[in-house]
Amino acid sequence: LLRIENVWKTYHSQPVLRGVDLDVAAHEVVCLIGASGSGKSTLLRCVNLLETVDDGAIYLDGTEITDVRADADRARKRIGMVFQSYNLFPHMSVLDNITLAPVRVHKTPRAAAVAQARELLERFGLADKAKEYPDRLSGGQQQRVAIVRALATRPSLMLLDEVTSALDPELVTEVLGIIRELKESGMTMVLATHEMGFARDIADTVCFLDNGVLLETGPAEQIFTEPREPRTREFLQRVL
Ligand code: ATP
Ligand code: MG
Repeated sequence: LLRIENVWKTYHSQPVLRGVDLDVAAHEVVCLIGASGSGKSTLLRCVNLLETVDDGAIYLDGTEITDVRADADRARKRIGMVFQSYNLFPHMSVLDNITLAPVRVHKTPRAAAVAQARELLERFGLADKAKEYPDRLSGGQQQRVAIVRALATRPSLMLLDEVTSALDPELVTEVLGIIRELKESGMTMVLATHEMGFARDIADTVCFLDNGVLLETGPAEQIFTEPREPRTREFLQRVL
C-alpha cells in the first residue's frame, strides 16, 4: 500500500532522514521507534507531504506521490494524520470539526457527512459529545475526536504521531483502545510512539530509527526480544 524508497531529508544542511526504505502492506500496522530527534515525525510528515523529500520517492498504491507532477491534494485525501497536539478547531463543535473536511474537501453532502460523523462518534463512545466544543472535553476525548475526524474522510492509510504523549496516563488507555479497534477493522497505520508496551502490543512490524537511518525492521516480537542490531538493543535497554 505504501512504499518509501531511499528517502533523504535535510534541514539546514543537517541530514534528518538518510536513505529510508520502508514497505507497508495493506492492513499492516507499523510502529516507528527511536530516540527523540531520530526522524520519526519527519518521516510521517514526508509521507503526508507536509514536507518535501530531498531525494527518493514515496508511493501510495503504486502512484508516486512525491513526483512533482503528482496531485498532492489527491494523495493527502487518502491519508489521515493525527498529531500529539490534537489540533481541533476550538471555535467549532465536535460535529463541525469532523464534518469540515468531508464537506469542504471531499464535497460530501452535509447530511451524509453528519450521518457518518454520528456513526463514528457512536462507534468510539463519543455520541453524546457531538455538540460540545473542544475545550469542554478531556484530553483523551479530544484526541479521540481528532482520530474520528481523520477517519471521517475514509483514508486508506492513517499516520499517528505520538497520539498519547500529551495525555495523562489514565486517559492514554481510551485512546489506545481506539487504535486497537482500528487495527481490528483492518486499517493500515504507521505510528510513531515512545510507548514500547503499546508498540509491542499493536505493531505487526517495528522500525527502529537511529539518527535518520532505519537501522532495523522486523516483527514486533523479534525486535523486542532479540534485536539484531546492538544500537537497537541499547535503545530498548534504555527505554524499557
Ligand atoms: P521526537 O521523538 O522528539 O518526536 P522525532 O524522532 O520525531 O523526535 P523529528 O521531529 O523528526 O524527530 O526531528 C528530527 C530532527 O530534525 C531533529 O534534529 C529536529 O531538530 C530536526 N527538525 C525537525 N523539523 C525541523 C524543521 N522544520 N526545521 C529544522 N529542523 C527540523
Ligand atoms: Mg516526533
